[in-house]
Amino acid sequence: MVYTAITGRFRVVIIGPARMLTAVYTFLLEFHHKAMTIRTILEFPDPRLRTTAAPVATVDKRIRHLLDDMLETMYEAKGIGLAATQIDVHERIVVMDLSEERDSPLILINPEVEIIGDGQLEHDEGCLSVPGFYETVSRPDCIRLRALNEKGEAFELEPDGLQAVCIQHELDHLNGKLFVDYLSALKRQRIRKKLEKLHRQSA
Ligand SMILES: [Zn+2]
Repeated sequence: MVYTAITGRFRVVIIGPARMLTAVYTFLLEFHHKAMTIRTILEFPDPRLRTTAAPVATVDKRIRHLLDDMLETMYEAKGIGLAATQIDVHERIVVMDLSEERDSPLILINPEVEIIGDGQLEHDEGCLSVPGFYETVSRPDCIRLRALNEKGEAFELEPDGLQAVCIQHELDHLNGKLFVDYLSALKRQRIRKKLEKLHRQSA
């Protein structure tokens, strides 16, 4: 049975238990969906990308909400990593997902990296803040990562390959550094001019 009465600004709906459950479930789904926001990603040469991010003091509800937004923004942009700096939030937070299924997020809060080997790895890097450009960058291959997860628990990881590259790329963002900084001044200038032109055209 459904009975609807309009009382002032509120609509009162009296419904049976099964429909009530469905309604509650739908509300929760919608609420959860609405609670996440796709944020705007800053693009090179935006000076805000040069900000050094501050450590997170407490991993609380606000941070977890921010993590939801960051993951949503990264998945929407089809990226494999996103640093808070890129959405103009200057706290030491990174989200990543290197899985093909896009269902294995890795959260790094206050990440720190130590180089533990001599190997270097060359990899073609791209960046959501430098859209459309891919260039080869050489980085240490063997690193040790220490960070906090979304519950504020400390963990360690010894990543290699693409994961090691991605972690270092994202950590650079937290220090105001971009992958274009590893290129020649000429190449960087060329990318800057092309992006500035695109930004002017879309303004
Ligand atoms: Zn990037």
